[in-house]
Amino acid sequence: MFYGFKKIISLISNLIYNQKCLICDCAKTDDLLCKNCLKSVHYLSSFPQKIYNQIPIFCATLYKDTVKKLIQKLKFSHNKKCAIPLARILFSYFEKLNLKDDFIIVYPPSFFTKNFQRGYNPMFLIVKEFSKLADLSYKKDLILKIKPTKPQYKAKNRHKNIKDSFKINEKYIELFKDKKILIIDDITTSGATLEELINCFLNVGIKNIICLTISKASV
Ligand SMILES: [Zn+2]
Repeated sequence: MFYGFKKIISLISNLIYNQKCLICDCAKTDDLLCKNCLKSVHYLSSFPQKIYNQIPIFCATLYKDTVKKLIQKLKFSHNKKCAIPLARILFSYFEKLNLKDDFIIVYPPSFFTKNFQRGYNPMFLIVKEFSKLADLSYKKDLILKIKPTKPQYKAKNRHKNIKDSFKINEKYIELFKDKKILIIDDITTSGATLEELINCFLNVGIKNIICLTISKASV
């Protein structure tokens, strides 16, 4: 009875708001993604995929199918709505990690010109949604981007390309010294960006860090 009622409500709201699955465009969705597309999210285990300088790097899913399409639509087709299911996917993985700490969320900033062309930073949209779900706060300008990076095509050049691209905002170092930092990113391939960010934090004495990416791509 209750299920039937819910179904009717969702059908009506689909008709009114013309809500379709963000990926396959079918109308069989209650909320942004249909069941089939939700099924093609490939979750990874709740063990870190990598440990770098004693900092764990967790990856929620594999960069393929639904997650890959959502990230591409968010970044390149300017479909901002895709940030919502991505944040939900990340959160359902994060819940499994059972971390109770009061983390401050940060994310790699993109260079001003890139955000300016696009009009928004895709990672910020995801973090904003995720922070609501996880009930954690985020800090926008704790990490500063000081050098633009070229598109990263070749794995072997990634570390060189990203070197000295970021710095920790000096005015917050004292304030965040004893805080727990959760670095979130969309995709990790070689781990170069995250490793560079970890080094930036460690160099200023901020040591309590974990990294979490939505997806992991193969090199
Ligand atoms: Zn679908």
